[in-house]
Order: sequence, then C-alpha cells, then structure tokens
Amino acid sequence: MAEHDHDHEHENDETEGVDDEELERAARRLVALSRIRQYGDSALRMKAREVEQFDEELARLVERMTSLMHEAQGVGLAATQVGVLRRLFVFVDDGEDRVLVNPVVTPVGDDTEVEDEGCLSLGPVRVPVERAVRVQLEAKDAAGEPVSLSLEGIDARVVQHELDHLDGVLLLDRTDAESRRDALSQLRPRLVLTS
Ligand code: ZN
Repeated sequence: MAEHDHDHEHENDETEGVDDEELERAARRLVALSRIRQYGDSALRMKAREVEQFDEELARLVERMTSLMHEAQGVGLAATQVGVLRRLFVFVDDGEDRVLVNPVVTPVGDDTEVEDEGCLSLGPVRVPVERAVRVQLEAKDAAGEPVSLSLEGIDARVVQHELDHLDGVLLLDRTDAESRRDALSQLRPRLVLTS
C-alpha cells in the first residue's frame, strides 16, 4: 500500500555514489512496479481462494512477493497484485517481513480513523480511507503454522488494505465520491471530459 518516504534515509551518508545508488533504487522500483498488476488488470478485481498446500511453490511465491514489495518500496503486497488468486499477502510489521496466509481480520472496538492511502497498483493515487484503528488478525505463516497478531494504527491499516485486495476491493471502493472521481481522472486521463 502506502509508499515509504525515503527522503531522509541517506541524510548521514556522505559517501560518493549516493546519487548512483538512488538512481539504481529508482530504476529497480520501476522494474518492480512493471511486475505488479496495475489498475485495469482484471486480477485486481477477482476474489482469491484459500491456500491449501504449504509447499515449496508457496515458499517461492512468498519470496518473490517479499522482494517485489521491497523493490517497489511498498509496505504490503497481496498475491492478487502479482496475478496469483490465492489468499496471502506480505507486509512489513515493525521492520520485520511477514507473510500471512488465509488471513482473517476482525476489528477490535468501534474506533475508526481516516487517512490517505496509496497502492502499488494505483500509480500516483492517494485517497482518504476510513479503517478500524485496531484489529485482531489470525492467519497461517508460509509453513502452515498459526499466526495471531494484535495490530493498531498503520499496521492495522496495512492489513485491512491487503485483505481487501484478496477480495478484489480497491481504495477506489473505500473512499468518498469526490476523491474517487479525482483518482479516476489520474488513472484514466484520456477518459475525462472537460466542461
Ligand atoms: Zn494496494
């Protein structure tokens, strides 16, 4: 979902070649984004099926998704975004890579908050989305072992965003009508009529 702000990452790095590194990172990001399904791709609108086999193929998929997420400078990536209609996503939980398979997310309490979200499949779009502040998440890891997480704030937001992807739901479906119109004009500039 949301992209990192890396502006300050190199502020103490005075070595030569920083510009080259940043250019390389930017290039890697573009390559990664080209491997992630973008708005208009039908896979983004499909409902993913439960994972039944915790095998080598799943491990390879998780590895591929994790590196794509990092190269694209995202904090979460769902299988549907790489065209795989299985219920799993990866995300960065407090600096640690996690994979959640067959996740079930339950809001805890009634608190919600509205924040801007972006998505690796929606280019430059950022729109306000209301999410539960706290959630309980039950899932399996890549080996099929149970995982139980209590999350709040940005982490809770990320997993709600990724879970939506597994049901074919995008930010556009979660935001207000005006933000949606603006987002669509960014995504489909040629279809916007001027008055
Ligand atoms: Zn997304």
